Amino acid sequence: MKLTIDEKIQDYIKSLEKGKIQIDVSLLVSCPYKTIYEPRANITWRTEAHILWQNKLKQQDPNWLIEYEVSYDEEEFKVIGYVDAFHPIKKLLLEGKTSRQLYQKHLRQVALYKFMLEQQLGEEVKVYIVFIDEKGNERYKIKPTLPTDMEVMYYIYSRVEKIINGLKRGYIVKIPDSEDCKYCIFAKDCRKKQELQTTLDSFLQA
Ligand code: SF4
Repeated sequence: MKLTIDEKIQDYIKSLEKGKIQIDVSLLVSCPYKTIYEPRANITWRTEAHILWQNKLKQQDPNWLIEYEVSYDEEEFKVIGYVDAFHPIKKLLLEGKTSRQLYQKHLRQVALYKFMLEQQLGEEVKVYIVFIDEKGNERYKIKPTLPTDMEVMYYIYSRVEKIINGLKRGYIVKIPDSEDCKYCIFAKDCRKKQELQTTLDSFLQA
């Protein structure tokens, strides 16, 4: 049964009270408020292109693991995500994107996946972001430059802390980011976005 947004938030709060919260990677890579509240179409051409691409990978080599679960477990929280494709023999992680350009959130996402996988396996993992067309064909791929483990850990902890602090007060936190805010349906009335703009303006005027 699919949970409503309020039920989801109540679930988060209950698990916090029990001492451990499970947080999806999507809440860490984009503004949590936008991620939770923005309405989403169930099946889009992007979803279908992803599935076609993943099926093609599996046909070429059955060793590919699709939607492979990765996690990072700490005492008070667990971060969980699903990588598009992971090859356990080649130690290769692929993340497919249907967008025309690379966004910062793509880099954050693969950095978190790589970090979590390497923690799980105790081995280095290679990462590529693959840009795919609507038929699930590879257009081109890039090998991203990613932050260090220390930087990723710092990012996880600071982001999780903000999310938990918001939930303790009963709400989903807004974390402004110039890319997220640009296309956000809540931007018009979002005070957090305005704060980001003010900070940017003063930085540019300095
Ligand atoms: S405008 Fe920015 S900070 Fe506000 S909800 Fe949207 S993405 Fe989050």
